[in-house]
Amino acid sequence: MWPWGHLAVGYLLYRAIARDRPLDAGPIFALAIGTQLPDLIDKPLAWTVTLLPNGRSLGHSLVVAVPVLVGIALVVDQHRRQAAFALAVGYLTHLGTDALYPALAGDWYYVGFLGWPIVPPIAYADESAGIVAHLIGFELTLTSGFELLLVGGAIVLWLADQKPGWDATRRVLRGAIGI
Ligand SMILES: [Zn+2]
Repeated sequence: MWPWGHLAVGYLLYRAIARDRPLDAGPIFALAIGTQLPDLIDKPLAWTVTLLPNGRSLGHSLVVAVPVLVGIALVVDQHRRQAAFALAVGYLTHLGTDALYPALAGDWYYVGFLGWPIVPPIAYADESAGIVAHLIGFELTLTSGFELLLVGGAIVLWLADQKPGWDATRRVLRGAIGI
């Protein structure tokens, strides 16, 4: 799944799960980061410096993610618990959606990244030459078009939710560029 697809599914799922919880900026940022974090860990460490066997290993493993996310939930204070929950929803949504396409196709070998390192790393035939090359390689297909529809649905919901996180993002951007 593409980064924007992960973000959209994460928001839609979080809204479905946390329907009655306030949509504060902190949890929304944590959710957004969580939806991207597995790729931000694995892609550079596999494609740029080859420390990991492929782009779905350390950051995409439930064997690693579950204890880390539980650990975070246990150490954060009461005020950050909602953000920790949102981070976990975003992170696990990413893993689930990466596993979704191969699972639907019955290619269970390609779901094995969830069990790394207990399950050996997947031998991808088309491991990307890099993050930029990967993004440039975007093509409109049935699945990528579906993901764009999900993005549209998530944007509509986000607008209906009064754009949670938007004001805080604008403040950060304004501070960063000094206006
Ligand atoms: Zn991924």
